[in-house]
Amino acid sequence: MNLAIDPASIKGFMPYDEGRALFEIALTLPEAGFPVIEIGTYCGKSALYIGSACKLRRNTLFAIDHHRGSEENQPGWEHHDPETWDDEAEAMDTLPFLRRTLNKADLERSVIPVVGDSNTVAKHWFSPISMLFIDGGHGEEPAHLDYRAWTGKIEQGGILAIHDVFPDPNDGGRPPFEIYQKAMASGLFEEINCVGSLRILQKL
Ligand code: SAH
Ligand code: MG
Repeated sequence: MNLAIDPASIKGFMPYDEGRALFEIALTLPEAGFPVIEIGTYCGKSALYIGSACKLRRNTLFAIDHHRGSEENQPGWEHHDPETWDDEAEAMDTLPFLRRTLNKADLERSVIPVVGDSNTVAKHWFSPISMLFIDGGHGEEPAHLDYRAWTGKIEQGGILAIHDVFPDPNDGGRPPFEIYQKAMASGLFEEINCVGSLRILQKL
């Protein structure tokens, strides 16, 4: 794996070995094929891994995030970073960090940020996709909405990757695990890799 910049230099929540698994699976996608969708980009750490593979395969990653942060990123919560706070907007804004990441990594032509709510974007998205990475809102409603709104768009043989899947409730919240279970129970997917809390499934 050859990344243009050190992922450790980017704020975010993607361990190296899980990022590498995302890079490697994105590298197996058909050349110049249907686009890849990421839900939950934050400052672009996972997008660095996936986008670097997309660049090599002449594919495009659409990186969706409203950039206002999830619940756990808000002030007073476990994963808040005060540097992401925009005083004028009185809200978080991670978009400037993402743009910096894409610029430094020379990925501006391969990774296209889509700034908005993932479910709203899904309603107007009609292209099939070759890979979907779900790492957006981890609450009950957003996680299940993302699953429902996006998984039907994955092409046959395409990839569904889900982050923060914790079979043991002591390790983390339930919704990502629940949608992983939903995917497995649907009979539409087969698990092909598991690294840390990352699950990689293939659509049959
Ligand atoms: N993949 C990132 C981490 C994502 S954190 C990394 O590698 O570091 C989760 C992100 O999901 C947050 O940036 C938050 O703003 C975004 N998010 C949460 N709910 C969302 C929604 N409904 N639509 C778009 N983005 C959402
Ligand atoms: Mg995550």
